[in-house]
Amino acid sequence: MSKPLSDYDKRKQISVRGLAGVDNVSDLKTNFNRHLHFTLVKDRNVATKRDYYFALAHTVRDHLVGRWIRTQQHYYEKDPKRVYYLSLEFYMGRALQNTMVNLALENACDEAAYQVPAPRALQLRTQFKLGLDMEDLEDLEEDAGLGNGGLGRLAGTSYRRHRHACFLDSMASLGLAAYGYGIRYEFGIFNQKIVSGWQVEEADDWLRYGNPWEKARPEYMRPVHFYGRTEHHPDGVKWVDTQVVLALPYDTPVPGYRNNVVNTMRLWSAKAPCEFNLKDFNVGGYIQAVLDRNLAENISRVLYPNDNVSKPVALSPVISHFFEGKELRLKQEYFVVAATLQDIIRRFKVSKFGSREVVRTDFTCLPKKVAIQLNDTHPALAIPELMRVLVDEEKLPWENAWDVTVKTCAYTNHTVLPEALERWPIDLFQTLLPRHLEIIYEINQRHLERVASIYPGDMERLQRMSLIEEGGVKRVNMAHLCIVGSHAVNGVAQIHSDILKATVCVRLCSTRDTHLLSTYTVMLFTPLTWSLGYVYRFKDFYEMDPHKFQNKTNGITPRRWLVMCNPGLAEVIAERIGEDFIRDLSQLRKLHSFVDDDAFIRDVAKVKQENKLKFATHLEEQYKVKINPNSIFDIQVKRIHEYKRQLLNCLHIITYYNRIKKDPNKQWTPRTVMIGGKAAPGYHTAKMIIRLVTAIGEVVNNDPVVGDRLKVIFLENYRVTLAEKAIPAADLSEQISTAGTEASGTGNMKFMLNGALTIGTMDGANVEMAEEAGEENLFIFGMRVEDVEALDKKGYNASEYYNRIPELKLAVDQIAAGFFSTKQPDLFKGIVDMLMHHDRPQ
Ligand SMILES: *Cc1c(COP(=O)(O)O)cnc(C)c1O
Repeated sequence: MSKPLSDYDKRKQISVRGLAGVDNVSDLKTNFNRHLHFTLVKDRNVATKRDYYFALAHTVRDHLVGRWIRTQQHYYEKDPKRVYYLSLEFYMGRALQNTMVNLALENACDEAAYQVPAPRALQLRTQFKLGLDMEDLEDLEEDAGLGNGGLGRLAGTSYRRHRHACFLDSMASLGLAAYGYGIRYEFGIFNQKIVSGWQVEEADDWLRYGNPWEKARPEYMRPVHFYGRTEHHPDGVKWVDTQVVLALPYDTPVPGYRNNVVNTMRLWSAKAPCEFNLKDFNVGGYIQAVLDRNLAENISRVLYPNDNVSKPVALSPVISHFFEGKELRLKQEYFVVAATLQDIIRRFKVSKFGSREVVRTDFTCLPKKVAIQLNDTHPALAIPELMRVLVDEEKLPWENAWDVTVKTCAYTNHTVLPEALERWPIDLFQTLLPRHLEIIYEINQRHLERVASIYPGDMERLQRMSLIEEGGVKRVNMAHLCIVGSHAVNGVAQIHSDILKATVCVRLCSTRDTHLLSTYTVMLFTPLTWSLGYVYRFKDFYEMDPHKFQNKTNGITPRRWLVMCNPGLAEVIAERIGEDFIRDLSQLRKLHSFVDDDAFIRDVAKVKQENKLKFATHLEEQYKVKINPNSIFDIQVKRIHEYKRQLLNCLHIITYYNRIKKDPNKQWTPRTVMIGGKAAPGYHTAKMIIRLVTAIGEVVNNDPVVGDRLKVIFLENYRVTLAEKAIPAADLSEQISTAGTEASGTGNMKFMLNGALTIGTMDGANVEMAEEAGEENLFIFGMRVEDVEALDKKGYNASEYYNRIPELKLAVDQIAAGFFSTKQPDLFKGIVDMLMHHDRPQ
C-alpha cells in the first residue's frame, strides 16, 4: 500500500496535526493500556483490533470530559443566551479523528499508537509486526449516520464565516452556548450494497458494539404525550387520557476547535414507561404487555431515508397512501419537540446569578435567553407545542404567548421542491395531537384575520396563505406554520432565498419536469413539481412580512473537510500562510500571492496525486476494481435524485465512450468517472438510475478498445466517511442540478476546498462560489434560472433536441435498445420514456 508519507515522516510532523510531545505520548500510552484493561477488560492475548479502537476512543474521550463539564458549568453561571438547533437529522460521521484534530492530539495519538505493540492475534498474522496504525483503528469506528444528505450534514457541523452563527461544530468553535437536539435513531441511514448492479438496503446497526461518544442520562428522562382528547375548563384547556412514552436523553460532546469549549448534542431515545399496557393483566396479558413495549419504543427505531421528499415519489397510489397514513414519522417529529421544549423551559426557569439560585417565572424574557432554530419544517411542532406550554401550563394570555413564541423561533427552508413539503392530513393530527390541532386552528384564524385586514376582499390570497389546505384531504401546511410562527425565515443560498421571495408559484403536475435533453450538448436539464394541483407560495408571506426573510448561505467546516480529510493540503497551505485559515477561511485569500509560485503549485499537485493514489488503493482493496491513478477523477457523489441529474452525467459518459470508439487512435485524456449516492428505497426512478450507471460501467469497463481511457465506477455506500476519502482525490466536481432546484448544495464546497475544479450550473451555492473564485475558474454551463423559466413558458419538447443532435440521439437509442442491458433490452424503457415524453412542463 502506497502512502503519502512514511509513518516516520508523519510522526515527525508538527503543525496542523498537533504536537507529539514526549509527556503527551507517554500519558496517552498509559491511559490506553488502562482502558484496555479496565474498560475493555482485555489483555493483549485476547484483545481484538476493535478493542484497541475502543481503548483509543476512550483515551481521547477522557480529554473531553473536564472541558465538557467546565463549559456547561460556565454556561450555568454566566446564563448566556442559548441557541437550540432542532433537527430530525444529525449526519455526524465519525468522532475520533475530529476530536483529536480539535484537541490538537492527532500526532501524539499517532505516535502513542505506533509505540503500542499490536494485539497478539494480529502479530501472529504478521499484519502489524511493529506498532498500531492509527488510520487502521479509525476505520473501525461506525459512522453516526443519523441523516440523509446535506440537511443532516449541515446540522452535524457547519461553518461559513466567523460572523455567521451556524451549527454545532461552528458554534462550539465560536464559543456559543449551543445545543443540538434530535433523535437517537437505533438505525441510521441504511447501508447500500450493490448486488448485480442493483441497490440493496441493509439495516445500519451502528450501535452494535456500543458507542463510546455518548452518555445516557436516565435521570433526565421526560414524558411525551400522544393521543387522548381535550377538555375545556374555565381555567384553561386540559389534554387528558393521553398515552405516555418516555424520552431518554443521550449526550454527545461537541468540541470546538482548540478553544476548550465542549458543547452538547442531546439525542432522545424512546422508552416505554414501566406501567406501559399493564393496567389489566393476567399472566398472558402481562407477557403480551411487556412484548408490546416495543411499539412505544419504535419511535426512535429508524431514520426515514427520504432526502428532499416527504414521502416516496412515483409510487403506486396504494404504497403512497400506506406511507402517508403512517403516523410514525409525525410521532418522531412531536417526540423530539416535546422532550426538547421541556429541557429548554427547565433550563430557562432554573438559573444562577452569582450564588443566588432563582426560578424564572417571567416568560416575556424567554426570547432574550433562548433561540430555537428549526432545521426545515420537520420540528415545526415546536411552535404549537411552545404555545401549548405557555398558554395551557404556564397560563400566559394567548397574545403574550404568541409574541414570545414568534420572537423565540426561526425557520430554515431547505428546498423548493414541492414533493418535499410536509403537509400532514388533519385526521392524523386530530388523533395523535388533538390539542395541537386546536392551537393550529387558533393560530390560523388570527393569522387570516391579519391577512384580511391588510388585503381586504382578497379571498384568493386568504386561501393561498392559510395554514390549512382545503380541497380533497384537509392538511396542515407545515411551511406556512413555520413562516407564521417565526420571526426569521432563511434560505440556504442567495439564489434560493431570492427564489423563495420571488416565486409566484411552481405549478404542480403529475410528473417531474427535467428538460433533460434540451441542453445536453453543454449538459442540462430541469425538474420541478409533482402532485395534485397544489400551489407552492412563499411570495405572499414575503409581501406581508418582508423583514422576516433572510439569506444564510450554507457552509462546511474546514476542520473536517480540509484539516481532517486532507492533512497534506492543509499542511501545504499552512506552510505558506500559517494556520489561521482553519478558524477563518477568508484567510485563504493570502494564497493569491502564490498563484505563480512553482514550488507551491508543485506541492499542491503532489498532494492531489498522493490522495488519488491512496483512494485508488482503497477502492482496489475494498472492491477489487483497478483504477488508473493518472486519469482524471471525475466525481459526482450526492443522493440520487432526478433534480441532481446523475442521468445527464450518464448521457455524457455514453457520448464520451462513443467518441473513443469512433476514433480510438486519437489522444484521449484518460478519465475515471465515479458516481455514488443512495436512492430512497421507495424512489423507483432513482434506483433505475443506479442500475443504469452500473450497466454502463459493465459495458465501458470491459471494452478492450477503450482500455483505461474511460472507466465508470459506482461508489457503493456513499456516506460521510466515504466522502472524506473521495473528495480529496477529486479532479473534477460534478454539480449539475437544473438551475433553481438545488437550494444550496454543500458537496460543491467540500470539493472546492480540496482543490477540485467544478463543472456546474448556476444553481444553489455554485453561484456564490463562482462569484468568489471568478467564473473563469469554474466550468459553468447550461440554462440560468431565467432560461429555465422561459423554456417552461415556451414549452419544452425533448424530441426537438433528440432529432437535432446526432450524438444525443445515439446515446438515447443505445439506452432504449438495450445496448447496456443486452440480457434485458427493455430494462431502461421507463427512463427513456421519461426523458422523451414526461421530462417537460405540462
Ligand atoms: C456533503 C454531503 C452530502 C450533500 O451533498 P450535496 O452534493 O450537497 O447534495 C450528502 N451526503 C454526504 C455523505 C455528504 O457528506
